[in-house]
Amino acid sequence: MSSIVLRCVECGKDGLDESEDSKLVCSSCRKEFPRHRHQGIPVILSSKSPLSTEEILRHQVNPKQADLKIAKRHWKTGVLAEMMRDVPRGQLLNFGSGDGGDRYWLEKQGFKVTSFDIYPSSFTDYVCDGHYLPFADAQFDVITSIAVFEHLYNPFQAAQEIYRVLKPNGILIGSCAFLEAYHAFSYFHMSPLGLREVLTRAGFREIEIHPGWSFEESLNARFWLWNQVPLIRRITLAVNRLKFRIGIGLWKIAYRLKGKEPAYDLELTFAGSLPFKAVK
Ligand SMILES: [Zn+2]
Repeated sequence: MSSIVLRCVECGKDGLDESEDSKLVCSSCRKEFPRHRHQGIPVILSSKSPLSTEEILRHQVNPKQADLKIAKRHWKTGVLAEMMRDVPRGQLLNFGSGDGGDRYWLEKQGFKVTSFDIYPSSFTDYVCDGHYLPFADAQFDVITSIAVFEHLYNPFQAAQEIYRVLKPNGILIGSCAFLEAYHAFSYFHMSPLGLREVLTRAGFREIEIHPGWSFEESLNARFWLWNQVPLIRRITLAVNRLKFRIGIGLWKIAYRLKGKEPAYDLELTFAGSLPFKAVK
């Protein structure tokens, strides 16, 4: 983490110094960035960001442990863990660290993890806005962004920032909601085509997009009762799956009768989320 060069989100120049009262100060425009009282986490926000430094400084950190169950579920989604297997171990930016469970998983895999989110936690190195990253160009070998892109108010801008802070040939691995329900202030749930557009416009190449969990699993997970009682969860999921499989089966038959193949990959068409990989 210490070898990462910081960049001022206000003037765009590299180099933040430590002031006597332990704020970070831009060595060019002298803008000051405070630290949260919890672990002295730097809060590095541009005045263009809709996030409020004052509000973040007032944020009470929940000292609870990272939820490893959520991290394991994240990385078991579709091909995410498989895609991570061949990625060279190096400097990794966890773009949107959430409750931090992902961090443990990534460190166990041998990555040097820097993490940020829009609120402080015990597992976050910086509080910042993913649309204005406080890192110099080409700092990271790998960036992971699991279930974050749907929470970005401008995914095109954030993808450009990710591209900027990746080293040449650096790898982005992430997932984005597609047919998941609206959740936790999500803005843009992306279709495979939309996601490809966001990544292509940022400059990425070798883009892979895969089906993650299915939409019926993702919708099932929204309902608290169904999720809490394992038997109810299994029954409701089985009913949803049956409806889905019959529907897809009938669709395929209809295509065959017309002598055609479905125009889209059906697993992608009905995916709740889309794991993806892209290269700078
Ligand atoms: Zn500056």
